[in-house]
Amino acid sequence: MAGGQRDSERKSVAIIGGGIAGLCAGCYARMNGYKATIFEMHSLPGGVCTAWHRNGYTIDSCIHWLVGSGPGSGYHKLWKEVGALAGSQVIDLDEFMRIECKDGPALVFYRDVDRLERHLLELGPEDGALIREFTNGIRKLTRFDMPLDKAAALYTPWDKLAMFLRMAPLGPAFLKWRKVTVEDFAKRLESPALKRAFASMTGEMGSFPMLGLMMPLSWQHQKTAGYPLGGSLPFARNIERRFLGLGGEVKYGARVERVLVEDDRAVGVRLADGSEHEADIVISAADGHSTIFDLLGGKYANDAIRGPYEGGMTPFPPLLYVGIGVADPLPDVPQVSSGISFPLEPKVEIDGKVRDRLSMNVYNYDPTLAPAGKTVIVVMISSDYDRWKAHSLDPVRYRAEKSLAGERVLDAIAQRLPGTRSKVEMIDVATPMTWERYTGNWRASYEGWLLTGASLGKGLPTTLPGLRNFRMVGQWVAPGGGLPPAVSTARDAVQILCKEDGKQFLTTEA
Ligand SMILES: Cc1cc2nc3c(=O)[nH]c(=O)nc-3n(C[C@H](O)[C@H](O)[C@H](O)COP(=O)(O)OP(=O)(O)OC[C@H]3O[C@@H](n4cnc5c(N)ncnc54)[C@H](O)[C@@H]3O)c2cc1C
Repeated sequence: MAGGQRDSERKSVAIIGGGIAGLCAGCYARMNGYKATIFEMHSLPGGVCTAWHRNGYTIDSCIHWLVGSGPGSGYHKLWKEVGALAGSQVIDLDEFMRIECKDGPALVFYRDVDRLERHLLELGPEDGALIREFTNGIRKLTRFDMPLDKAAALYTPWDKLAMFLRMAPLGPAFLKWRKVTVEDFAKRLESPALKRAFASMTGEMGSFPMLGLMMPLSWQHQKTAGYPLGGSLPFARNIERRFLGLGGEVKYGARVERVLVEDDRAVGVRLADGSEHEADIVISAADGHSTIFDLLGGKYANDAIRGPYEGGMTPFPPLLYVGIGVADPLPDVPQVSSGISFPLEPKVEIDGKVRDRLSMNVYNYDPTLAPAGKTVIVVMISSDYDRWKAHSLDPVRYRAEKSLAGERVLDAIAQRLPGTRSKVEMIDVATPMTWERYTGNWRASYEGWLLTGASLGKGLPTTLPGLRNFRMVGQWVAPGGGLPPAVSTARDAVQILCKEDGKQFLTTEA
């Protein structure tokens, strides 16, 4: 076998994928003395947590808000361990999400829960009791912090009891709000203004559990879900730097084609260039479907492993992702971390569907992403994988559809920001095929499995039946995805590895 010489003192770990989970797994492996090599097929670290540059503008692909950006969450310690925020300035915007309506005031999800409550009561005084139930629920959730120091798989009965006692006071709120969907909540509202605004969210988020909205609002309130200026690529680069500083190795342009297995034990990886790299442990931080069914040929999958991929769970929809560079700082547009949703009148057909609203992120709060006096706008639209797959079979059609989608998005934005069209200096359209090509994620899902009331908080298996010395980490083993599970599943995996090797798990901070 070429590459990675066996070290008799230290075990070696081959990590597939240099997204945030893979980079973090590498950091923790190095903190604990394992020889660690990351094999990443792309030329950059970060996976979906990335950015690309066009005509002097930077189109950011990921971080709108980062759980653990400040001390109020246990994730803060983890981000310090992997050096993710080293030298970064984090900002906490006043507005988390803004839903603008045609015939009435906007619904603004303010970061501060007291301000949010006042605003909701102004919009719908007749819904006072329900509003207070909602905002008190958010307040209650601020008292919850997920214990992260020990991997749940290593819990003793005492740990489980301690966890139960810790969770008990919050249990009723969790159980209640995980069952209520945004659609259910909208139906219970009386006030026309609130009912209209919540109902307009149901198109994209109807089946989303209210708990999934309230948790971020509780982190927002605690100023621990901010935005690191500079965005996603510097964030990924920071973790890459930490990994390299700890003595790890990253191989870019290194697509893993096969996990090598001997006697039902993972023993290394084979790359697309034919080279084989031996390792004592293989950790896959790549897309779950390709790991299980391609890199391992489906040999280590029982019904429980196959189930989610055969309809048991739903992946996040793929995205049509349009980045627009505008020669205008757009200072009067509200600064909102999770986007401004606005109505379209007349409706606009974009990406094969007639749309009556659009959501956009105006990055007027991050001057590092555009030349001075200019701004980037990003529009994320849930798209259709099969439609783009079909277009991609004909390059001329594919390019024409991309260009049409970009034009239609500009038409739509012009309704909310008249005058921007003539100031557009750059437009970049990434389709589900782009996401698939660059990150390998199954059906171009941008965040793994969709969060539902049933999947919330439930992890998928991180090992495969019958296969030893192999683990999976990242968004495909943690429904709902996101950056926090990327770091925590990686940390847990190395902690379990240490336990299996009879070693104390060690961490340091950057
Ligand atoms: C538009 C957008 C907005 C988001 N907003 C937020 C947010 O505000 N907050 C938040 O917390 N999260 C957000 N997320 C989600 C978050 O970015 C992801 O859940 C997280 O980054 C996933 O990390 P990962 O390492 O598990 O997976 P990935 O990023 O998919 O990494 C997998 C890596 O494996 C590599 N790979 C795949 N196959 C192979 C192979 N065969 N050989 C070698 N390498 C391979 C890929 O190239 C990739 O680098 C957002 C995501 C997107 C796309």
